[in-house]
Amino acid sequence: MRVAILKERRACEARVAATPETAKKLIALGCTVAVEAGAGLASGFTDAAYAEAGAEVAPDAAAALADAAIIFKVRAPLGTGEGEVDELALIPRGAILIGTLGADAAAAGTYASLGIDAYAMELLPRITRAQSMDILSSQANLAGYRAVVEGAAAFDRGFPMLMTAAGTIPAANVFIMGAGVAGLQAIATARRLGGRVSATDVRPAAKEEIKSLGASFVGYEDEESKSAQTAGGYAKQLSADFYAKQAEVVAAHIAKQDVVVTTALVQGRKAPILVTAAMVESMKPGSIIVDIASDAGGNCALTTPGERTTTDNGVTILGYTNWPGRIPAAASALYARNLLTFLTTFWDKEAKAPKLSPEDDIVKGTALTRAGAVVHPSLAPAAA
Ligand code: NAD
Repeated sequence: MRVAILKERRACEARVAATPETAKKLIALGCTVAVEAGAGLASGFTDAAYAEAGAEVAPDAAAALADAAIIFKVRAPLGTGEGEVDELALIPRGAILIGTLGADAAAAGTYASLGIDAYAMELLPRITRAQSMDILSSQANLAGYRAVVEGAAAFDRGFPMLMTAAGTIPAANVFIMGAGVAGLQAIATARRLGGRVSATDVRPAAKEEIKSLGASFVGYEDEESKSAQTAGGYAKQLSADFYAKQAEVVAAHIAKQDVVVTTALVQGRKAPILVTAAMVESMKPGSIIVDIASDAGGNCALTTPGERTTTDNGVTILGYTNWPGRIPAAASALYARNLLTFLTTFWDKEAKAPKLSPEDDIVKGTALTRAGAVVHPSLAPAAA
């Protein structure tokens, strides 16, 4: 079985879907691995390191994809007119494509029409058995870390209380909005840097998690928020009335913050606006907002996704997108292990091929297409 690893060509993508370490493990499974030349460079992995691991370094995408049975990707392959290479057209019919594929009906229809069996890892069910393949968790964790580090670097005072012979510098007030995987890592990182950390979330379980990391909880709670969590562990979309009350509580708190890190997402929707223009206006000059939710539009009304901007009252907003891609060596290492674990979980040792049983919960959750048909329950036409 030939596994192909391509260079990621989408904008601002420095990650790669296999590292020399995971390439070696794929070879140990009985695969041959073809890595497009330069695929790992932006993450610090040289062609020589892949070759040393036993992979073939292919001169271009076409050579890497020739006869490939499995393709590992970070982002969806480029289609016609999307870039200098039509990657989709080069993928052999019947190949298995595994990555973050942008799981919508149009993409799934394209994979089906090309006879590609596509597995969208962002749809992985968040069950215990799947934790080690969970790309959303591994990448969000690093995003939370990186956001705080970049926020601290942009902040012109520093996080810890500094007692010096020349006087005392107070600790920074750091507020984390959304305490999921990214937010909890952001809390831990801000605490390690010495900040005075508070956090908010709407899910009832989050309050104890915030406190257990040594941060204080700030938030509005009512009957509605007691059921703010879906069975899958995600936040639910709540009423306009709830958001208004939450905003009231948060507004008074934000005015006193030096660094605000926003991470709040509601699955399948645009990110909720938690920091309004008036709240930004209330912050001191030199304050920082780091918006990790900018890929989903942003949690701050003034975020320009992809940009660093400064408001008239001197508040800097880091609205960069693809936060995990800003720490590419670590993000690639974890992402690559997630994909390797997915494949090894379904690996048939005797056949030296994956056996992706359609009845398995993990397969059912991630499979977009099979044998030319769209099969994901959220995208396939309902059975008659
Ligand atoms: P996410 O990225 O979808 O959202 C980030 C956070 O934003 C969530 O905690 C959410 O509650 C919060 N949020 C949404 N709207 C908000 C609002 N208006 N104000 C404040 N916060 C708001 O979530 P996630 O980080 O992927 O994780 C969600 C949950 O799933 C967490 O409890 C996490 O521990 C759990 N999880 C479980 C597993 C597993 O394998 N069992 C794996 C990963 C995550």
